[in-house]
Amino acid sequence: MTFTQDSIAAAEEHSAHNYHPLPVVVATAEGAWMTDVEGRRYLDMLAGYSALNFGHGNRRLIDAAKAQLERVTLTSRAFHHDRFAEFCTELAALCGKDMVLPMNTGAEAVETAVKTARKWGYRVKGVPDGRAKIVVADNNFHGRTTTIVSFSTDPEARADYGPYTPGFEIVPYGDLAALEAAVDENTVAVLLEPIQGEAGVLVPPAGYLAGVRRLTAERNVLFMADEIQSGLGRTGKTFACEHEDVVPDVYILGKALGGGVVPVSAVAASREVLGVYRPGEHGSTFGGNPLACAVALEVVAILKSGEFQQRATELGEHLHHELGLLAGTGAVEAVRGRGLWAGVDIAPSHGTGRQISERLMDRGVLVKDTHGSTIRIAPPLMISKEDLDWGLDQLRAVLEG
Ligand code: PLP
Repeated sequence: MTFTQDSIAAAEEHSAHNYHPLPVVVATAEGAWMTDVEGRRYLDMLAGYSALNFGHGNRRLIDAAKAQLERVTLTSRAFHHDRFAEFCTELAALCGKDMVLPMNTGAEAVETAVKTARKWGYRVKGVPDGRAKIVVADNNFHGRTTTIVSFSTDPEARADYGPYTPGFEIVPYGDLAALEAAVDENTVAVLLEPIQGEAGVLVPPAGYLAGVRRLTAERNVLFMADEIQSGLGRTGKTFACEHEDVVPDVYILGKALGGGVVPVSAVAASREVLGVYRPGEHGSTFGGNPLACAVALEVVAILKSGEFQQRATELGEHLHHELGLLAGTGAVEAVRGRGLWAGVDIAPSHGTGRQISERLMDRGVLVKDTHGSTIRIAPPLMISKEDLDWGLDQLRAVLEG
């Protein structure tokens, strides 16, 4: 047995099988490249589901983390600490909002948004107690908690986890008329991904997000954009909503906010919305901890320069041009996406998404399949054009072979 096989066998034996990883055991990583325990190098075309937008081992982020590790890492929110105010101020400014509420994982931030919308509904909008409704889209992915899977339409994510949390109505993604019909006087929020990542990088029809914005504003309903995967540079803008000049009431952020170093998530909104909380009504031991704030503050500083958004725009145009050529070959049925982010539907005659991912791995490129026939391409935004082209060459070779 090789070290790789030993390691995978031990993981299979002693960890729950809630993932089906590709058979590679990563030991180190830098920039857009990872090296496995056998010394083989791989181009990372997944970037931790967009948590690694700024690359592995980004110097600025590692330095910020190291400096903070030597000072103080955790206080709990029982006390103030000297990185908290600066982080909240800077992140709120990046979002153009008054306030933020920091948490750790994406699912926690979505849960926080759901709780916030309900509390806002009862305290501000005047919805009768226990009647608040949140409208969501089919094929959504917002996380794995019991409430969140309650409004998932993916049987794999949902089955066997009932009884389910009530208070959600599911409408087809991209269908404005269906959304309008679902919004009633007790609706407190519409919760959507501006681009559906896990569903296969589904971009809604042009005008949809702007339509959602108009409708929710007219009906006094919060528009909550889950930008956990689409936000923070991935699509070429700080927020994917910007592509339609839309400003939602609530941003839900995670993944890249922690720079791939620490888990950091947050909800950002106006004072009218996040001002509903009083001490004791919500919280998290680790949310807003000094280490998280120090790293995320550096992430915000990086994003303020616009450098990564620019890269995602330029390299994204190139990526989509190249993938468009592949789409004409018969090996690829469809390509979707925006910026440095693409969902590629593989023709069944050429293999499943998993098989293509494994063949790419053999050629030194790491991607991940989703929903059977789709592979997702989302390299770190600092990837060089040469590396991106090399990765695309491998994809072409795999599809031709
Ligand atoms: N929301 C979206 C849009 C996501 O893509 C994800 C993760 O893929 C989540 C929420 C959940 O984030 P986490 O896995 O950090 O809980």
